Amino acid sequence: MEVDTSNALLARMDAMAQQVSVVNKKLEKIEAVALKTPAEPTFICDICGGPHESNICSFIREDQMEESSQLWMGRKSEF
Ligand SMILES: [Zn+2]
Repeated sequence: MEVDTSNALLARMDAMAQQVSVVNKKLEKIEAVALKTPAEPTFICDICGGPHESNICSFIREDQMEESSQLWMGRKSEF
């Protein structure tokens, strides 16, 4: 009887260890995905080939900045 109970306990321990290893494997997978996601670009920019949509490209932003600064200069000279 004593052997049976200890065996049952061992079996339970084994089952728990297996569950832990399964959870650990799941966490490892999630971590791997989380680490992979930034390295793999979802969008590839048509303008610079960067990992972003072409409509949010920094090249466009720079052009817009130049235009706005030119507008500012024009307004300033008017006054
Ligand atoms: Zn770009």
